[in-house]
Amino acid sequence: MNIAEQLLSGILETLSLQIAVIDEAGSIIYVNQSWRAFGLLYGLSLDTDWFGISYLDICRANEDTNQPLLLDGIERVLSGSIAQFTTDYLCHTPTQEPTWLTLHLQPMQTTLADGQLFLLSLTNITHHKQTEDRMSALTLTDPLTGLANRRRLEQFMRDEWSRAIRHQSSLSVMMVDADHFKQLNDSMGHAAGDDCLRQLASILKRYSNRPGDLAARYGGEEFVLVLSQTTQQEAAKIAERIRQKVMALDIRFAGHRLMTVSIGVAALGIQQSQSHKAQHARNQWLNFSEDGNLLLEQADKALYVAKKQGRNRVEVYDKHHRLTVPLSV
Ligand code: GH3
Ligand code: MG
Ligand code: MG
Repeated sequence: MNIAEQLLSGILETLSLQIAVIDEAGSIIYVNQSWRAFGLLYGLSLDTDWFGISYLDICRANEDTNQPLLLDGIERVLSGSIAQFTTDYLCHTPTQEPTWLTLHLQPMQTTLADGQLFLLSLTNITHHKQTEDRMSALTLTDPLTGLANRRRLEQFMRDEWSRAIRHQSSLSVMMVDADHFKQLNDSMGHAAGDDCLRQLASILKRYSNRPGDLAARYGGEEFVLVLSQTTQQEAAKIAERIRQKVMALDIRFAGHRLMTVSIGVAALGIQQSQSHKAQHARNQWLNFSEDGNLLLEQADKALYVAKKQGRNRVEVYDKHHRLTVPLSV
């Protein structure tokens, strides 16, 4: 090897990028040191002979990768129908945490072989993906309480609403608002108010354990609890328990006033209908809207009634709810 060749070979063997050269059939011609080192994670030794192994077979064997897309992209570059291909994919090695890789494949400019050769590179992007996940979790979390924020709630409602309609299952939503919270702040101070909000949040969190449940901070002293596969009656019972748990915190302000919450409940798929006619009506209701916000609006209306009727109570929305109840406090 002349000096230039030695330099090039040194660079290739030192790069952290995993590099392979493959031919038109996808057979491996060359791999660098990083590629060999990655092979260790699959139980292969550093001196494994990679020459002639089909990279397409490797992809086919790795069933966890998003195989069809990966294979399709590689085959299209090898056949010359696209100029290059880049994709991110999750690689499940038997010995390590899943690794995120960026694969890039493009033809090489070389006269080394009769046919066309291709440069395949794999970059480990696991750290970037983890940071990305942490950042996106942050943009969906309320910093004061650690609950989901409104943005996350809206996403979640859209998903759960369409899931409930698809499976014709019930979905309940409750809106929980702290009573007289302005007064609580005024008498205890804003920092103590914040602490009360955290305590409220931790009660709601305890009632949102299943994957289809979500506790969110909707705004200032207002929270939303979404409960999938939960009927209106069940949700009303849970709301009542939450109301009592808040009273049991025994937080007193402005003399001797107890911290309480008012709760409005609304539900989709109200009851498993018995008669054909009722079933028909229910299906019409299920098709009524694509918008999960409808439930939030209804829960908000029920909350409004709870406030008007004296606070520290649970109200359930239904079509016949009178929203003109006279103010009782
Ligand atoms: P109601 O019973 O009708 O709900 O009365 P309220 O006083 O709770 O309602 P109002 O909307 O008049 O006031 C809400 C208060 O919540 C005002 C605001 O100071 C307080 N608040 C909103 N966000 C925060 C927060 O992040 N921390 C604290 N400590 N207080 C907050
Ligand atoms: Mg309030
Ligand atoms: Mg409020």
